[in-house]
Amino acid sequence: MKAAVFHKMGDIRYETMDDPKIEQSRDVVVRITSTAICGSDLHIYDGFLPQFRNEVLGHEFMGIGEEVGSEVSNLKKGDRGW
Ligand SMILES: [Zn+2]
Repeated sequence: MKAAVFHKMGDIRYETMDDPKIEQSRDVVVRITSTAICGSDLHIYDGFLPQFRNEVLGHEFMGIGEEVGSEVSNLKKGDRGW
């Protein structure tokens, strides 16, 4: 998958990452269909929220469920939203 990755203040790169996968029974994998920039992303970009490692940005998103863990009961593959 592709992701916007924060490296340091003012340095965000569009990079190829490993595809996400279910690792724990309550995980969900979502195919992102739309996203937005949040004020938190801007705070990270401007250095107001220190990051101690490279960070994939973007937590304001919508998408379609691709996989759900075995303990997820309120969502199923193909659901839209999230
Ligand atoms: Zn936010």
